[in-house]
Amino acid sequence: MVFTVLILLLLWVFQYFFLARYYRSARIRDMSNISDKLISAYSKGDIANEMKRMAFDNSMCIVVTDTSGRVSIAENNLGSISYFMLDLMNSSGYNMHLIKQELAESRKDELTKIVKNENIKSEEILLCRKFETSAGSGYLYIEASVDPVDSTVSIIRQQLIYITIIIFELAFIITLFISKRLSAPIVHITGTAKKFASGDFSVKFEEKGYREVGELSEVLENAKDEISKVNKLRTDLIANISHDLRTPLTMVKAYAEMIRDLSGDDPEKRNEHLGIIIDEADRLSNLVNNILELSKLESGNIELKYSDFSLHDKINSVLTRYTLLIEQNGYDISFEPDEDRTIHADAEKLDQVLYNFINNAINYSGEQKVIRIRQINREDAVRIEVSDNGKGISKELLPKVFDRYYRGEKVKRDVVGTGLGLSICKEILKKHGFAFGVQSEEGKGSTFWFEVRLHPAKELPAAKV
Ligand code: ADP
Repeated sequence: MVFTVLILLLLWVFQYFFLARYYRSARIRDMSNISDKLISAYSKGDIANEMKRMAFDNSMCIVVTDTSGRVSIAENNLGSISYFMLDLMNSSGYNMHLIKQELAESRKDELTKIVKNENIKSEEILLCRKFETSAGSGYLYIEASVDPVDSTVSIIRQQLIYITIIIFELAFIITLFISKRLSAPIVHITGTAKKFASGDFSVKFEEKGYREVGELSEVLENAKDEISKVNKLRTDLIANISHDLRTPLTMVKAYAEMIRDLSGDDPEKRNEHLGIIIDEADRLSNLVNNILELSKLESGNIELKYSDFSLHDKINSVLTRYTLLIEQNGYDISFEPDEDRTIHADAEKLDQVLYNFINNAINYSGEQKVIRIRQINREDAVRIEVSDNGKGISKELLPKVFDRYYRGEKVKRDVVGTGLGLSICKEILKKHGFAFGVQSEEGKGSTFWFEVRLHPAKELPAAKV
């Protein structure tokens, strides 16, 4: 509305105050042009026709005199009371004489002036021009009324009033329309967002409206999905962790009571029970350590301790930990190496990744109990794969396995898990700038992989998962 008012104000200033002045100077320019044409017609001897046409077309009175002031030709289209016509009728030449004198005083060839003709009660423009051509010399007088200009101006002013009213109404309607279309969806989205902020995850951001609002509601809907996912995972985590904490605690309590009441005097039994208590305590500290580790990794408070080491040595040393499991539980765990490579990474953290991948493969390998660790050398990277022939992971769950707190259905485990293993791996690999991922087919098994870069750049871009 302010913009409309500004435009109208400008229109009014220009049309109302400057139009008449502008028209007048345009008319004077016109007259000057006409005088040029007439003089060139005079030199060609065609002045009579040209004068008739000009006087008729432009409502003018045109008079040509010789140097002494005798009228040689005249044409009038202004009526009998124009200045020059009066001069002609009473042969006084009074007005013509006056203006000729002024021209002489001005020492120019052409003079124009605006006068108020009391006879016809309107303003007129008078032009006087001295000319010298090969066909003769003399004076040219032109008289024209400014009236047509005034009537045009008054028409334009009238129209301006209508235009102002129409534009105001249109602007008002458009303003209403726009504000409804622009603000209504935003008001609606704000309402939904407030509900969401107060904890109602059932709300839906589905504003269609114009493009930006559509996009905003899409972004909010995605954010809502993410937040509700994290919320659910958090609740799951608390449930999982409390369960995982309770089981070993129950065991510790039960065996401690057993030692107190029954096996305290039997060294063999007592040692066996104490062994279980120690194992369970280890489990507990493992869980707590994992939680701490993840929170440290996620907050970015961990600096990697880089060193160069042989990949073969690393994997073989990790595998020695599983000898007992291979012997006692019948697992078939083997390493299929490629040519050895020296890699640059945090050895301890890389251990953790390998342990997690292998532990998961053991836990989820099902009846097959076959686990393969493969090394595939690439030009500038080494790919390590840990595969099992277990039940695999469904397509829907696949994108979630690296998520914090995500844990699949419960399985009987040969190695303790906390549900945080893969998210710790993810953070470690991300920090190294190594690509990683998982391929899995339900019923056929899974392959978890990561790629160690051989020539890591100083600033690594985030790896693609
Ligand atoms: P945890 O194994 O302690 O539950 P992880 O973060 O290591 O936690 O793994 C998250 C989930 O990913 C697991 O609960 C399981 O559902 C799934 N998963 C991980 N590795 C495998 C695998 N090799 N085969 C099938 N499922 C797997």
